[in-house]
Amino acid sequence: MSLYTMGIDVGSTASKCVILKDGRETCSRSLASAGAGTGGPQRAIDQAFEKAALGREEMACIVATGYGRHTLSWADREMSELSCHAKGAGFLFPGVRTVIDIGGQDAKILRVGVNGLLENFVMNDKCAAGTGRFLDVMAGILEKKVSDLGELSAQAENEANISSTCTVFAESEVISQLAAGRKIPDIVKGIHRSVASRVSGLAKRMGIVPLVAMTGGVAQNEGVRRALEEELECEIHTSDLAQYNGALGAAILGWERARKRKGEDKP
Ligand code: ADP
Repeated sequence: MSLYTMGIDVGSTASKCVILKDGRETCSRSLASAGAGTGGPQRAIDQAFEKAALGREEMACIVATGYGRHTLSWADREMSELSCHAKGAGFLFPGVRTVIDIGGQDAKILRVGVNGLLENFVMNDKCAAGTGRFLDVMAGILEKKVSDLGELSAQAENEANISSTCTVFAESEVISQLAAGRKIPDIVKGIHRSVASRVSGLAKRMGIVPLVAMTGGVAQNEGVRRALEEELECEIHTSDLAQYNGALGAAILGWERARKRKGEDKP
């Protein structure tokens, strides 16, 4: 009989949900653009059930992860983001050794062992520089959607120099570049460079071991991914499930647990 499991990643800015069949087949995924402390997690869960035409009673295990995982009292288990991200990345990118995860409020670099288990990590969760929040603020100043930044930077002819990685100072720099008539694509490319230089500093502290993959919402921004490839001088893989990586890992860990329990129940 098939085992269905759900992983829910309650992030700082977005809630992501994945339902898996037998730990590998995606039945549904859903995302609500609101995170911990909002109605976002419930909306993502309801949508995932609806898309998969499945219900709570059919789930062998529900695992919550992410910054707001403690707010989901009815999940069967809570698991750390780091374990879930390592597990999800191992599934999406077989042989991965370095994971660069940039979310709404933090950036983390994970070292995954050859056995697929988390070996080490470094994290920036103290400051908006080098996170999705930095990009969200800059997109707001430029009156652009964060999802359009990647394409805009591809049109740059002459990258602007945003010398500060600090969000507040960089905001003033962007405003003065705009006032000076600088083209938006050039400014956006400079913004991506700023994020990449901050995150690559973190990554170099850990050391880069290929295969390198990028996850989290910011992985959808091709401009940041390319700038990071330049800074780190290596190829960086991504996937259209990159933002769901934590939820995916949670669903896989839920499946491993449910399978073990099932085995233990056998006479
Ligand atoms: P969290 O788990 O902290 O909520 P996510 O990993 O979901 O964070 O990433 C959220 C960030 O991803 C947002 O702050 C935003 O900058 C970025 N983002 C979200 N959607 C897109 C998109 N379509 N294109 C580019 N960037 C995006």
